[in-house]
Amino acid sequence: MAKLITTLGPLDASQVGMILPHEHVFVDLRTWDEPGFGQADPQDVIALMVPELDRARAAGVTALVECSPEGVGRNAAILKAVSEAAGYPLVAPTGIYREPWVPPWAHQASEDELYEWMLGELRGEIGESGVQAAWIKLSAGDDGITETETKILRAAARAGAETGAIIGSHTARGRVLRDQLDIVESAGYTPQRFIWIHAQNDTLELNLEMAAHGAWIEYDAIGGGREDAFWIERIQAMLDAGYGEQVMLSHDRGWYDPGKPGGGTPRPFTYISEQFLPRLTAAGVDQATIDMLTVDNPFRAFAR
Ligand SMILES: [Zn+2]
Repeated sequence: MAKLITTLGPLDASQVGMILPHEHVFVDLRTWDEPGFGQADPQDVIALMVPELDRARAAGVTALVECSPEGVGRNAAILKAVSEAAGYPLVAPTGIYREPWVPPWAHQASEDELYEWMLGELRGEIGESGVQAAWIKLSAGDDGITETETKILRAAARAGAETGAIIGSHTARGRVLRDQLDIVESAGYTPQRFIWIHAQNDTLELNLEMAAHGAWIEYDAIGGGREDAFWIERIQAMLDAGYGEQVMLSHDRGWYDPGKPGGGTPRPFTYISEQFLPRLTAAGVDQATIDMLTVDNPFRAFAR
């Protein structure tokens, strides 16, 4: 039976409910060459983020997927410390972000080496953190996928095919995603195990095209500036077209930022539960559909 691999160990579907598929506990958006990049005292991160995880739990959110891969300050030891302090499961990725955040070692590594590295984290642990990676996060440039990003994606597709791990890509443009899906298929994996992260940044038409191709469509900046009506319209269009089983909802919020004094001010993981879902209900979406979008879909996507 498929399990959701978390910082607190593997969980089966009966042990989790609503899951947010795109949030952050810890991110550093500076680049690898900045002093102190990706580092913080775990106690400081605990002090800032445990209350946010407690609030998420009180709002009915049972697990968060952490979306920071290598290149944007991924720190599995800190995730584990925060998760254990809160008694709250986080879902950690392997993988590497896009250029210019790709670290030098990954530029130099061959596709085979990247594949072995991802496989090791998906089957074993991230470094010596005791955290097993559940999935693969990567990205591609807005103007087109680069040679290095292609190498990372091919390695990811091979590691995903081997383990069943889902791949999620931060991709702003649908035409770049189209190329990514071609690469995934040519490397022996399937668009059905691929998430278009930030799908809202391109047209509904392209969202529908990629869903028809099998990809997951993630609407993940809810509560982040756009009116709720925008999201409700997109979700209803996907439901009407019969792609409800491929849609996921999240905030892309958090987080402790080592580049800011005291880690900055996190934004709560509660907007969807407290504000958005009641509006989605009022717009005529029934509870069974909401459960599909917020409980069943993210489990099915991330469990393996
Ligand atoms: Zn994000």
